Amino acid sequence: MEECIFCRIIKGEIPSFKVYEDKKVLAFEDINPISTGHTLVIPKKHAENLWEISAEDLAAVHLASKKVIKAIKDTLNPIGVACLQLNGRGANQIVMHYHLHLIPRSIEEPELPVSSWEIKQGDMKSIKETAERISEAVE
Ligand code: AMP
Ligand code: ZN
Repeated sequence: MEECIFCRIIKGEIPSFKVYEDKKVLAFEDINPISTGHTLVIPKKHAENLWEISAEDLAAVHLASKKVIKAIKDTLNPIGVACLQLNGRGANQIVMHYHLHLIPRSIEEPELPVSSWEIKQGDMKSIKETAERISEAVE
């Protein structure tokens, strides 16, 4: 039996509140929404995270998210929408099937917890060194 809950949603084995579908992508409502209209956009082909997903599926998910975010804007009139995507259990990824969260905030809703953090000045030497290490590893 298929273990991945989002693969099971794609197969129709588990119900979902679908808002958009095409050949490569499905979008549906999060059942534990942070705000009204919290939507998940996923590739139909299973991939765990941003390291695994193919360029083609990644592009399809993000192009679909552009359609869905327009529909969210037209219907819910949010004052902003946070797009969030977690990779790995250490980043609190719970469902190990790539998904992009679209989290709108309407004027009467509180600030989104995922979009607010304390701004603290970083150490420029350390930031520079880290940037160099990462940039040297880019393939
Ligand atoms: P995360 O892996 O932390 O980015 O988040 C997984 C998200 O999937 C959570 O926001 C859950 O509420 C959501 N979720 C889990 N199961 C379902 C389901 N059956 N239908 C819709 N959303 C789900
Ligand atoms: Zn899956």
